[in-house]
Amino acid sequence: MLTSHCKITISHWTAYRRVNICGGKSNQPMLLFFHELSRKGFVVGSANASWQTSDLSGVANHDAAGLLGGRRDVPRWPRMVFLVGAMSCLAISATAHLLACHSRRASVVFWQMDYAGISAMIVASFVPPVYYAFLCHPPARVAYLSAITALGALVVGALLSPSCSSPRFRRFRAALFLAMGLSGVVPALHALWLNWGHVACYLALALEVVMGLAYAVGAWFYVSRVPEKWRPGVFDVVGHSHQIFHVFVLVGAVTHYVAVDVLLNWRETVAAACGTAS
Ligand SMILES: [Zn+2]
Repeated sequence: MLTSHCKITISHWTAYRRVNICGGKSNQPMLLFFHELSRKGFVVGSANASWQTSDLSGVANHDAAGLLGGRRDVPRWPRMVFLVGAMSCLAISATAHLLACHSRRASVVFWQMDYAGISAMIVASFVPPVYYAFLCHPPARVAYLSAITALGALVVGALLSPSCSSPRFRRFRAALFLAMGLSGVVPALHALWLNWGHVACYLALALEVVMGLAYAVGAWFYVSRVPEKWRPGVFDVVGHSHQIFHVFVLVGAVTHYVAVDVLLNWRETVAAACGTAS
């Protein structure tokens, strides 16, 4: 009985060590803390968005009375797509960190779900900026959203292959996520050209650059495994590269939310005059 128990324990531990992208044996509570912190941050953001939605809806009713003059009824669902995508990704990630050590099979499945969740979050991140920036240019809007959705589906397909979940493909996974993120440069430059002269667009683009830097720095920590590779064992509980990676992901996501808010306010107050805000 004891032997059997030991076998199961060792097997689980081996599976955990082989597939766990964190590498530290005792940092799961801290990682869950960061995941939960991230998710709660977005729940608060979502509640704030809902409040703003209802608040501005109420204000819109007074629009005829001339309280806000040129405010337009711009859809908020693209922003909600991002919030739902981000919260889903963080929730899946937290679940994966909690349960992946159950068994070898669970480990593979949960990390695949985690990677699929990250891809879905990247695709969801594209929806609000592309929608608002190309509000008056439906063909470009549909083309860019279709392209990133197709790219996301391809990446999910590649990541769902069992071999891609192994630590050996850490750099390959990071490269796929970075490629998805960097593909946003094309619509960003196109939107800048179309909306040249609008300060809100410059501000939103600057925020998106900050977001890109945050994700890139986070990806560097994820791949390089700094600082634990310099002092093995010292950062098992606090300061592990995977924790730093998640902090930068959260910073990037919050920065993106602010950029989306800038674009939404700009469309509502100034630039929804193309008449396609439906
Ligand atoms: Zn994680």
